[in-house]
Amino acid sequence: MTDLSKGAAHWQGRIVPIAEAALPVTDWGVTHSDIAYDVVPVWKGGFFRLDDYVARFMASLAALRMEIGRDADEVKAALTEMVAASCLRDSYVAMVAARGRNPVPGSRDPRDCENHFYAWCVPYVHIVKPDAAMQGTSVWIAKRIRRIPADSVDPTVKNYHWGDFTGGLFEAKDNGFETVLLLDHEGNVTEGPGFNAFAVFDDRLVTSDHGVLHGISRRTVLEMAAEAGLRVETRPLPLDEFLEADEVFLSSSGGGVIPVAQVDELHFSNGAAGPVALDMRRRYFDWIERPSHRTEITY
Ligand SMILES: *Cc1c(COP(=O)(O)O)cnc(C)c1O
Repeated sequence: MTDLSKGAAHWQGRIVPIAEAALPVTDWGVTHSDIAYDVVPVWKGGFFRLDDYVARFMASLAALRMEIGRDADEVKAALTEMVAASCLRDSYVAMVAARGRNPVPGSRDPRDCENHFYAWCVPYVHIVKPDAAMQGTSVWIAKRIRRIPADSVDPTVKNYHWGDFTGGLFEAKDNGFETVLLLDHEGNVTEGPGFNAFAVFDDRLVTSDHGVLHGISRRTVLEMAAEAGLRVETRPLPLDEFLEADEVFLSSSGGGVIPVAQVDELHFSNGAAGPVALDMRRRYFDWIERPSHRTEITY
């Protein structure tokens, strides 16, 4: 048996160790970041909200006019087969469609490209380490870099155009912060590298509805908030208002709900994780075990 404990890939229809999967240098996925992807968490041996993640992936493919020759059920089957083979019970599972190579010499016509599907899984990723998350992480508001406008690269399609996020992360790290949030050109808070952002005002949660990926964790937070009797508002969130929140937190499939204790020089909840954020985090790790939201994997 090959060792898949570091991760597995579903590559050209076969399950291989992750290190054996690599894109050709001429794939438009490499040369133009021309990729749609999605990431679904596996927790304690089952997928969380698998149908929702795969539905978003299929919508992304349609938006980018990619054909991968697989329907949603076939994508789910490929992911299940791969994770089962990997034996990973807590996993970060990526499904990817790349534009592919253009077999017509010199062609710049995207319709000529041979789109293709692959997937990979690695041990579960926390975008902020759990200890740091419990204490409340630190977020830098990017000063030099703005989120790519929604009419340039559609943020509702999960994509690899990370130039803005990577530049923002350098700004954040250079200033001693864990991660970064980007503003749009009107000064509203959008999102960060792999997460959505929430502001808490008393019993009210506000998160942007514009210029962001509609995260499945974000949707989970909105549903959990309704269950907890909190009010929710999805609308543009100006930075000035964001900085006046009682609490701030992030949502991502890489770690669920992540409390924030500091934004720039401003300390929230006395420099600790806030009570609403901690409650949402606790609820998230309950929800991902709810049978109604899970697809168990037979290993
Ligand atoms: C993945 C991602 C998110 C979070 O989405 P989830 O479905 O909750 O994981 C938010 N913003 C961006 C840019 C992302 O790539």
